[in-house]
Amino acid sequence: MNYCETNCVVKRKGNNNKESDETLSFTQSTKKNNMISSHEEENDRNRGKRYSLVSFWELPNYMKDNEYILRYYRANWPLKEAFFSLFRWHNETLNVWTHLVGFFLFLGLTLANLMKPHVVDLLQQFTRSFSSGAEKNVSDSIKDFLGTALLFDLNNQAPLKMEIEALEFVIARWPFFVFLGGSMFCLLSSSICHLFSCHSHDLNLFLLRIDYVGIAVMIITSFFPQIYYIFLCQPHWQIIYLAGITAMGLFTIVTLLSPSHSTGKHRAFRAMLFCSMGLFGIVPAIHACFVNWGNPRRNITLAYECVMALSYLIGTLFYVTRIPERWRPGWFDLAGHSHQIFHVLVVVGALAHYAATLKMLEWRDTFGCDRT
Ligand SMILES: [Zn+2]
Repeated sequence: MNYCETNCVVKRKGNNNKESDETLSFTQSTKKNNMISSHEEENDRNRGKRYSLVSFWELPNYMKDNEYILRYYRANWPLKEAFFSLFRWHNETLNVWTHLVGFFLFLGLTLANLMKPHVVDLLQQFTRSFSSGAEKNVSDSIKDFLGTALLFDLNNQAPLKMEIEALEFVIARWPFFVFLGGSMFCLLSSSICHLFSCHSHDLNLFLLRIDYVGIAVMIITSFFPQIYYIFLCQPHWQIIYLAGITAMGLFTIVTLLSPSHSTGKHRAFRAMLFCSMGLFGIVPAIHACFVNWGNPRRNITLAYECVMALSYLIGTLFYVTRIPERWRPGWFDLAGHSHQIFHVLVVVGALAHYAATLKMLEWRDTFGCDRT
């Protein structure tokens, strides 16, 4: 555009040969300069310089979510630039990393737990090779791993028979892995949403909905192990509570998938939906206290669950009130704003729930249905 305008104006001036020569040389140099400058622009684009960070006022309307965060926004960035912004400072960097680290943490915990049964299998093969003289040691090993000491009279049974009976007693792990899977889905979808939602309006809307669905999935799946293990010996309560929370979760997901509910205006409504799902847990929790009255691990499990509930509750308060950035707009653009605090508390809450679930699993592995 620039090149054409300059060229046309200069050419109209040319009446004699001298002038024409000067015009030609000026045109050529302008052309050359323009080529250089367009080449530099191309280089800048390749180096990522072109996609500079912008302020809140320069944002397209769909990205104006938090008016207390004033600077360091990415707006309408290509996917490649958005991906590499994982390693650049902007106001979403810590939002992406807080949940990405959480995702890898839960991935590690899942892999460690998936490998556990193999450790037990190896131990059993190892114990079979022992002679009857080592019966005591074998019994102790199995006792340590499966916690069956109170259920078997170790001195009166052959080691092999005892191992088979002990194996039958292993409690199902799938509800535990459902929770781990749900947590990983939530943490990863949140990281992806924060990383790529600066690309376009359509992708922004889609990813925000996936992010909310991730939160709902995490809440639903968190209930699975607790309800399954607490009510292991009362399957009708297992079904009632699991069906209840799944129905509530599906309702929440369908509601959140409507585009109008993804906007900033509905922040409190979304928080209310998530909280009501969490509060639903109070019913089976009170019920569980009675079912589990004699469980010596009850207090430690409850303590972990209280940490989880507090983390989620305080996190939601930060999310809704947008504290501390509302007190000092612009001060917390890069680090320390409410959404980052909310993310950290979500990971803390999920870890506390993981610890509570392990305690519950340990208790069921030890006592099965004999002691409730
Ligand atoms: Zn988030």
